[in-house]
This record gives sequence, C-alpha cells and structure tokens, in this order.
Amino acid sequence: MPNTETTGTQRIKRGLMLIVSSPSGAGKTSLCRRLMADHADLDLSTSVTTRKPRPGEQEGREYHFIDDARMDKLVKEDAFLEHAAVHDHRYGSLREPVERALSQGQNVLFDIDWQGAQRISAKAPSDVVRIFILPPSMVELKRRLIARAQDEMAVIERRLQRAKGEISHWAEYDYVILNDDFDRSYAELVHIYHAEVARRSRGLWIAPFVDELMSETI
Ligand code: 5GP
Repeated sequence: MPNTETTGTQRIKRGLMLIVSSPSGAGKTSLCRRLMADHADLDLSTSVTTRKPRPGEQEGREYHFIDDARMDKLVKEDAFLEHAAVHDHRYGSLREPVERALSQGQNVLFDIDWQGAQRISAKAPSDVVRIFILPPSMVELKRRLIARAQDEMAVIERRLQRAKGEISHWAEYDYVILNDDFDRSYAELVHIYHAEVARRSRGLWIAPFVDELMSETI
C-alpha cells in the first residue's frame, strides 16, 4: 500500500524521520546499516562532522568530514536541521537533503545523539519516531569498544563515562531496544519501523480514502 497523502485529486507522499540514538558501542550503527540495506524507502541522513575519519571510514559514507571554519559557515547559513557538540567534536544534520527526501516520500534515518533527537523532535514532533538502543551492560559496552579497536584506550574510557550521560536520556524516546542479541534487536527495530510507517499512512491518506470508498455508488 502506498504511503500517500491526498490533496484534491493528487496523492502526495511525505516521509517520517526515524531517530536512533545510543552510547557508542551499543550496536546502533550495525542495526541502522541493516535497516537501510533492507528498506529501499529509507534514506540515511549523512551527518557533517569536524572529527577526523577513522580507519576504513569514507567521505560521504559515514560522514561528510569538514573543518571548523566550514562548520561555522554552514551554521551561519542555517544549513542544519540540528547541530551539536559530541565527544569534543561538532556534528550536524543537513537540512536540504532531508527535506528533499521527505518531500519525495522517502523516510529518513538519523544516527544522532540525544541533543539532536530533542532538537528535531521540537521542530517537527508529528514527523518523528525516536528509538534508543541500550547495551546489555557497561562491561559489554567496554568489550565492544575495545573489539572495535578504532579508538585509543583513553578515548574509550572517556566514551564509557559519556555513555552514562547518553543513557540518562532514554526516557525521552518513544521506543527502547535492549541490544543483547543482534538478530532479536533487529527484528524489534523492523517491527517498530513497519508499525510506524503503517500508523503514519493511516494519518496521511487512509481517512480520505475511506471517504472515497463510502461515497462510491454500488
Ligand atoms: P561517532 O564519532 O562515534 O561516529 O559519533 C559520536 C556520536 O555523535 C554518536 O552518538 C552519533 O550518534 C552522534 N552524531 C552523529 N552525527 C550526529 C549529528 O548530525 N547530530 C548529532 N546531534 N549527533 C550526531
């Protein structure tokens, strides 16, 4: 069934914004990548960041990597839906690609922190679904950060401390997934996504469709 909105005789789609937050190492990126791979109606909002690429990261895939001066310029130009400082670096979600995708009926996935979730929700509460991913334990979180081996030990220790700050915002989210098992957590994420797309379809186009059905002469 199409996710459409009726205006006169024309049906126009508008997508939803799916925000996924978690502390680093809780498995959010793997869950989001799989959701993207399995759903052609979902686009990723590729953030801008002032942090340096980690080994294996590519410009335009994980992030757009820029310097502080360029970040300042984009802020001044009001190019961001939201932007925030996270782990000593700056990050932002670009407004234009998100607006374009939504107006084409695509849903948009944001892998952003609690500050970004708050700011986007405040701007467009009815277009947003927020999901928080929890790690099964802090010991497991540390193990995953070390296994990832992308950061130095001092960075990992700092991230563990900040993880508690991120987790303290869990209650601001619509859904919470405890990621103790990837397949189970992924299934939960897919169920949430499908249910929210169906709920949104109901608001956007089912009521006018039912009116059309009822006015048909039999
Ligand atoms: P990392 O540097 O490990 O890729 O990301 C660090 C944190 O920044 C993660 O929690 C990630 O979700 C968050 N983040 C990434 N992009 C954005 C963004 O555009 N806005 C906000 N507010 N947070 C972001």
